Amino acid sequence: MRKLFSLVVFCFSAVIFAEGLPVQDGDFGCIPAQKAQQYVRDFNINVSSFGGMELCNANVDTKKLFNDLQLIEKGQFSGSEKNIFIGNFVDSNNYYGWAQRQTAGVRRGQDIPTATAYNSSGYFTMQDGWARLSSLGRVGVFLHEARHTEGYYHVQCDQGPYKNVAMAGCDETLREGGSHGVEMEYYSRVVLQGENFHPVYKQMARLMNLGRANFVFNETVMKSQEILVASGDKEILLMDEDAKIIHTPLAYNNGGSLHRSSFGVTLLNETSATAVDLYSGNLEPINDEYSYFKLLGDGRMPKVSDMEEFDVNNKRYLFALTQDGKLYSFVFSQGRWSSPSSVPNVVALVTTSPQGQEGLFALTKTNEVYVIDPQNMRLGNRVGTWDPLVVNYVKWGSQLLSVHQSGEVLESASGKSYLPLASYKVQQMVRAPIYDAFGYDNHGNNAFGLVEVQYQ
Ligand SMILES: [Zn+2]
Repeated sequence: MRKLFSLVVFCFSAVIFAEGLPVQDGDFGCIPAQKAQQYVRDFNINVSSFGGMELCNANVDTKKLFNDLQLIEKGQFSGSEKNIFIGNFVDSNNYYGWAQRQTAGVRRGQDIPTATAYNSSGYFTMQDGWARLSSLGRVGVFLHEARHTEGYYHVQCDQGPYKNVAMAGCDETLREGGSHGVEMEYYSRVVLQGENFHPVYKQMARLMNLGRANFVFNETVMKSQEILVASGDKEILLMDEDAKIIHTPLAYNNGGSLHRSSFGVTLLNETSATAVDLYSGNLEPINDEYSYFKLLGDGRMPKVSDMEEFDVNNKRYLFALTQDGKLYSFVFSQGRWSSPSSVPNVVALVTTSPQGQEGLFALTKTNEVYVIDPQNMRLGNRVGTWDPLVVNYVKWGSQLLSVHQSGEVLESASGKSYLPLASYKVQQMVRAPIYDAFGYDNHGNNAFGLVEVQYQ
């Protein structure tokens, strides 16, 4: 049987103080004018479209692009550690030279809001979506666009948010080494072969790799497995199907609710979504820009009271409930939120009903649970009543578990305590996917690679 956890115990503080290239735009410092001029020349940057020449302030998009190019130029890779995404599509020692050759020019525009960026005959136009990303995400986009110059195009998606829409957004396979392949290869190299990257940048690269590789290829490239993720006050517990439990610290808690997301789990509060890194310990809060909860932060949907990222028949949906009782879904093909349906009595979205059905449901003020039709966002049949003492329900194999406000986890059918978690005080619990792209078991085979972190 496939081993789920590789029990690597490492020193927490040693990781935190490791040096590396900057991550956050504010940490980059000013760029010498000469270096900026070199980037402008090397990539034929239309500086005025990015807001004019700017050497220091990353609120100006010009400086964001300089930061990206610095990461591309200075990032170093070594070693032979590999995973499925490293196919030597691009020479790891010459990302800068390669990207330069594929770039006829770069400008900033807002003409195709559904895209993060686009490439027209080697001319890249970076859109608002690019500017909203972190340095890592922007570098990924840049390398992705560069690959398009070499004649790699997308096909329609068989899965994910762009399933069944006319827009071509996926690569058929990973091994063809298309734009998604090159982007994922970069993230994987940062994680496995990165020499001088900050540990947080590596964390981000892993989450970005996992959060996107599960839907941008029409073939299945990673194995996934479901685990239970239960949060307590300061730690989270991960439990596999054999009821093996490992602990990982919850180094931050934004007071939000735990949600399943495409790379694992996300802590969601009113204004932000914070990624929980199940793989390498939670070094510091990382804004979730890996799942579609990232749309919470772009300001287009104010006063969100709940959100769900949810797959129905392989198609990914994003739903939002607002404090004024409106229900929306995101129309990925048009890059905008749907028109709302009015649901004044709904207080939360849930994905498991009290009877153990999975789907999208609405919980009302009077504790009734209704099916939501994902197509038109209207409420359908009433499927049950919510026990007000229950925080949430989770389907786990053939069992239905309920997390109670007391911290107990019960088996719904018997009402008895769920034994594997009987000694823990659980605040919230969800079922979440993990992927096998970065871990190895004792025999060197790919495994899921969750890491148990030991406090000092
Ligand atoms: Zn593309």
